[in-house]
Amino acid sequence: MRAKRVGSIIATLAAVITVAAGAHGAAQTSSSPRGGAAATRIRLYVLDGGTLESDPARYQMTKEDVGVTQLSVAAYLIVHPKGLLMWDTGAVPDDEWAPTGSPVQQRLVLSDGQERRVTLTRPLRAQLLAAGHMPGEITHLALSHFHWDHTANSNAFAGATWLVRQADRDAMFIEKPAGTTRPETYASLKNSRAVIVTADEHDVFGDGAVILKASPGHTPGHQVLYVKLPETGGVVLSGDLYHYPQERTLGRFPTFEFNVDQTRASRTALDAFLSRTKARLWIQHDFTAHAALKKAPEYYQ
Ligand SMILES: [Zn+2]
Repeated sequence: MRAKRVGSIIATLAAVITVAAGAHGAAQTSSSPRGGAAATRIRLYVLDGGTLESDPARYQMTKEDVGVTQLSVAAYLIVHPKGLLMWDTGAVPDDEWAPTGSPVQQRLVLSDGQERRVTLTRPLRAQLLAAGHMPGEITHLALSHFHWDHTANSNAFAGATWLVRQADRDAMFIEKPAGTTRPETYASLKNSRAVIVTADEHDVFGDGAVILKASPGHTPGHQVLYVKLPETGGVVLSGDLYHYPQERTLGRFPTFEFNVDQTRASRTALDAFLSRTKARLWIQHDFTAHAALKKAPEYYQ
C-alpha cells in the first residue's frame, strides 16, 4: 500500500517534470510542431578540457608551419532522446586540481615518465552540471582512443555503457600499457558494461543521428564520432585523426602513430564520408577552431 502511494507520487512528479520540460522546449523552439519533443531534441555540448603545450616536431612540422603551437583539449556531451553520450573525458582528472578563478597550470607525468603541461579553467564536472547533467546520468561513454589527454575523467562514467573497439580495450588493460597513457584514469572501465563495437559505422541510438566510425591508426581501435544536428548540420568529432589542422593541409602524420598506413587510409575514408554526408570536421585539438566554439551551457542543435 505504502509502496503503491510512493509509486503514484513519483508518477505524478514525473508527469509534472515532463510537462515543465515540454513547456520549456516549446518556448525555446516555437517552430517545433511538438513542444514535448523539442525538449529532447539532439544537442551537442562542447566542453573545454584546457590547453596543452605541444611541440609541432612531434607531428613532423615546424612552428612556422602551424602558427599556434598549443593544442586544445575537448570533450563533448551528446544529448539524444534515447540517452546521453560522453565523447572523450579530458586531459586532467577533476580531482587532481581545483579552479581558482584564473587559469591553473598543471604538470602531468605519463606512464613512460614524460611530462606534459596543461592549463585549465573549468572542471569537466562543473561543465556537465552547467549543461544540466550529473556524471552518473550519462548512459553511454565512448572514447576516441585511450591516450591520456582523452581519458582523464573516464572513471566518473564507469556506470555508463562503454562503446569500445576490442583492439583499444585490449591495449588499455595489458600489463604495461603504452607510455602515452595514464591507466589509473580509466581503471574503473574494466568492470563497465561494454559494447564491443565491430562495425565500421556503429549507429549508437538507432536513428542515424550519432554514429561511431572506425578510424584506426593513431591507436589500433581509434574512432571518430559523427553527429547529425538538425540546425547545425553534420559534424564529425575527429579524435586524434588530426591534431593541428595543418596535418590535413600539408599531409603530415604524427611521429607516434600505432600504424601510419592505417591512419592514412582512415583519413582517406573519412574524406569520402565527409563528402557523402556533407558533414564538417571538427578537429578536437585545433586550438583556434575549438576556441571559437560555443561552450556549455550553450549548445549546438
Ligand atoms: Zn589527443
